Amino acid sequence: MTFKSPYPDLDIPKTNILSYLFGQGHVSEEPLWYDSKDPSRNLSPAQLLQWVRRLGFGLQRLGLKRGDVVMICTPNQIFVPVAYLGTVGSGFIFSGANPAYTENELVHQISNTTAKVLLVHPKMLTQILPAAAKAGVSKDRIFQFSDVANPVREGILDWRDMIGTPAQGDAWQWPDLSPREAAETVATINFSSGTTGLPKGVCVSHYNLAANVEQTIFMRYAHRPYPFASRPQERWIGFLPLYHAYGQLYTILMAIKLAVPVYIMAEFRYEDFLFCIGKYRITSLQIAPPILVMLSKRPETARYDLRSVKDILCGAAPLSRELQNECQRRFSVQINQGWGMTEVTCGALHVPGGIKDDSGSVGQLDPNCECRLVDEDGNDVEVGKPGEMLIRGPNVCLRYWRNEAATKECLDDQGWLKTGDIAVCNDEGFFWIVDRKKELIKVNALQVAPAELEAALLENDHIADAAVVGITLNGDEWPRAYVVIQETSRGKVTPRDIQDWLAPRVSKHKRLVGGVVFIDEVPKLASGKIQRKTMRDWAKRDAIEL
Ligand code: AMP
Repeated sequence: MTFKSPYPDLDIPKTNILSYLFGQGHVSEEPLWYDSKDPSRNLSPAQLLQWVRRLGFGLQRLGLKRGDVVMICTPNQIFVPVAYLGTVGSGFIFSGANPAYTENELVHQISNTTAKVLLVHPKMLTQILPAAAKAGVSKDRIFQFSDVANPVREGILDWRDMIGTPAQGDAWQWPDLSPREAAETVATINFSSGTTGLPKGVCVSHYNLAANVEQTIFMRYAHRPYPFASRPQERWIGFLPLYHAYGQLYTILMAIKLAVPVYIMAEFRYEDFLFCIGKYRITSLQIAPPILVMLSKRPETARYDLRSVKDILCGAAPLSRELQNECQRRFSVQINQGWGMTEVTCGALHVPGGIKDDSGSVGQLDPNCECRLVDEDGNDVEVGKPGEMLIRGPNVCLRYWRNEAATKECLDDQGWLKTGDIAVCNDEGFFWIVDRKKELIKVNALQVAPAELEAALLENDHIADAAVVGITLNGDEWPRAYVVIQETSRGKVTPRDIQDWLAPRVSKHKRLVGGVVFIDEVPKLASGKIQRKTMRDWAKRDAIEL
């Protein structure tokens, strides 16, 4: 059967995201984004718009055409919303790279998106320049991008030297998008491996973005006062990475729409995070399960005043019911889960704000969303039985970037998206995630694609074959490799050698912390594909033995 959201459909504007956010009424001059280290450095929506217009002018003057990609590589900082909205609002495509990426990972993202302009934090220049050279981006298309004006370094100008003057910005207007254009124009490309294979660019439209903002706001205030009515002023903390959909939705889009100030953290350090909550009297947190583990286990937690926090949204990876309830009791705070995926813009299920949950549910379907639970053959399972979630709604992405085969595999012609997550649903339309069918591994709530690590491992001359799978140890998931060593190399390399060899070739969260095991043969299907289910069984068996 098809499950529908229990909430009435919302009317979702089909327009340029800038018109959606700033189209009507007054644009506030109150600061919205604060640097958490130095809040005198801040940016209001009115200032943001001035920078956005100047950037839009500058990118157009560089000759960028609709659909060209601008890639950004920076830690979180108060100017990222400018890069995001200046790019998207001008009809170009924003793609954020993880600042921890290695050179190879950067080359992949630059080449795959065919990025035309790179906005790079000065700290990242030494990483980016060789990657950009390999991907064929010339130095005059790379600009330093931070919250201060930077002197020329290694021949690279600052973005402030590329954008229009204030007067040129004032005269510049973002393009109007017709409803059809808003639904078809790609706004962002974030990376996800989907249900199988290598990381792929996920094409999200202006309409997808507006839909997911409207849906998420609806779910957040479904059972409690809307912030502009009687609710006290909220304050958020912006540590979620802004190259990921979760950070972009809250720290940029929802913050503007709800006028909630956000204290931006350049990088996540646990004690800084606790300190910021106390100092700025943060009212709500958007987090992933590893942060709840820290809140519950780390002794530093007790040294900080966290009483200002009233509600926590937790998503992006599985959360145990025990941990959810332990933290709810200890901090007297409501913790509600949401379920999301890069391919649904950000989220599609939420336990509505104002509802108390202690069951570990990931929530009800957001308005305008539908879900089916299906078996291995794609048939609907009986009510109450687990099945793979298929999702349909205005937040489901357009396609994978230049990858028709992957798009066909994940998205059918009726708009159903395969999620690779197994769920059950009750009579009231609450869902629980009970398993993950897809290959994806989540480390610290960040994606790791086994296929990417397998391809990297096969570059090692000692390795004849390899299969990578997630192993869960003490509630945390880590990549583990089962490796066939070349006959001639047997006895000459150890599992540790393989771990050490891979470590510098991938970003930190992709390292083989779950171990390396030597085996005789990787179990394969007749088609030559790795038997992922067998690998998952091996990892479960090994986790018990470890
Ligand atoms: P990403 O595209 O990086 O947001 O990752 C999406 C995947 O994270 C989903 O397909 C799930 O496997 C997992 N995920 C997200 N939210 C939850 C949740 N609340 N509970 C369990 N898994 C989740």
